[in-house]
Amino acid sequence: MAGPSIASETDSLKVNRIWSGAIAESLFTVLFPSDCRICGTLLTRISRLPVCQKCLDAMQSTAEDVCRLCGERLFLSYALDPSGESRCGLCRRAEPNFARAVAYGSYESGLRELIHLLKYGGVRPAANVLGRMLAEAISTLEPQLSGPVVVVPVPLHRSKFRQREFNQAELIARAAMKIRRSQDRLRLCAGALVRKRETASQIGLTRHQRRANLRGAFAVAQPEVVKGNEVLVVDDVFTTGATASECTRVLLRAGATRVWVATVARTLKISDQHLEIAGPDSDEIESSIEPEDVPMAKAVGI
Ligand SMILES: [Zn+2]
Ligand SMILES: [Zn+2]
Repeated sequence: MAGPSIASETDSLKVNRIWSGAIAESLFTVLFPSDCRICGTLLTRISRLPVCQKCLDAMQSTAEDVCRLCGERLFLSYALDPSGESRCGLCRRAEPNFARAVAYGSYESGLRELIHLLKYGGVRPAANVLGRMLAEAISTLEPQLSGPVVVVPVPLHRSKFRQREFNQAELIARAAMKIRRSQDRLRLCAGALVRKRETASQIGLTRHQRRANLRGAFAVAQPEVVKGNEVLVVDDVFTTGATASECTRVLLRAGATRVWVATVARTLKISDQHLEIAGPDSDEIESSIEPEDVPMAKAVGI
């Protein structure tokens, strides 16, 4: 008599148990990923970001002397110019078109891995940590900014966007803006710039070739937002500045009064030569290695 109802109750309990088991399991996987994705040690802390505290703590901001204009590492041979300003050799020869570029840290080790986790691994919670770093980089520009500033993430081409499903520069910028909530003179405008065409890999190109490769890649989609305002271009990585310069060129042409650049990371020279760290990335690595330096760069093995 009561058979069928007991049976169905048992069945529903069983289903519930299976469901809650599955939910707990998936929650566990989300909350307790097995290993730190950077160093491989077992994670014990509850976090949506699969990176251990030791690895996060190691991602320090660049403490050494850097170029006042482009953020490049400075070496003793050109520490100060006659005006008392620290500038690298390149900026002494020709000033960049942007007012100043700042970065939180060096594009290497854990910081590089964390950026890759977001960009290529799709680990979106990494954007929050990277956003904090970007906010710190932006704060170093603070004394020089005047009036309202339009914050523009470097855009992806729509084909790349479709493939990745997000623009890492925009995610990082949004996270940074949240941290700076109280200081509302910075206004994020993610659609101000668009990428009109996908650009070929910059690896192995000379500085001149890289500029040519990027020429016409960006366009201002919202000139009314840009005109008469200072603009802060933000991105995950600054390598040689070819992307920053090209974005600056179109923004200035659209009437921006000054253009600033802030990134989470920057490639830094590893010696007082024209040699920089080159990586396998195709979209953001714009190796500044001149052709004659290529064999040397390969020998470094980075
Ligand atoms: Zn770790
Ligand atoms: Zn410089």
